[in-house]
Amino acid sequence: MNVRPSVGVLALQGDVREHLAALESAGADPVTIRRESELAGVQALVIPGGESTTMSRLLQVFDLLEPIRERLAQGMPAYGSCAGMILLASEVLDTRADAVQLGGLDITVRRNAFGRQVHSFETDLTVDGIDDGPVRAVFIRAPWVERTGDGVTVLASVPPSPEAEPEAVDRVVAVRQGNVLATSFHPEVTGDHRVHQHFVQMIVARA
Ligand code: GLN
Repeated sequence: MNVRPSVGVLALQGDVREHLAALESAGADPVTIRRESELAGVQALVIPGGESTTMSRLLQVFDLLEPIRERLAQGMPAYGSCAGMILLASEVLDTRADAVQLGGLDITVRRNAFGRQVHSFETDLTVDGIDDGPVRAVFIRAPWVERTGDGVTVLASVPPSPEAEPEAVDRVVAVRQGNVLATSFHPEVTGDHRVHQHFVQMIVARA
């Protein structure tokens, strides 16, 4: 049995290299995915952070949209960070009218949701399923989750920023549905690989 699961990283745009390194150190055997034939060889897929509308366009140019949708429908484990979360969502607010979705998560996300003053910020976040203390969460023009469907588990939320209106509420920033995991933030850039380890454990448990 291969103890290091083969995990693809969608390599059309975004922080591919950071995910490859994080997966490697989390015990996986990572490979880049740019064409359909490469997808067949992997057990799971990571959709990196970057720009969701650009990746949306390139998924169509590279004929990867339907093949990835099919694998997700068959239960392939997937993890999306930031733009990756946006692509895995069933519905996206504040995106381009021609943007396409991979699906996999029954959630509604809002792009660039945290607003102008706090385009980017970091915070220590307790994430359900991640032991040994909070995760340093780096948010870069991040989405938040505005709706979660039945079967979606919320793993982490952030409280409103001090500048937010009094009626502001906690915002969901990490979710799981079946074999699909997504975070608004970027664990791949911090050197703490516990989120990737958690994903690798999900893959191994499924296999
Ligand atoms: N704002 C970006 C988008 O809409 C996501 C940013 C990120 O991945 N860091 O795709």
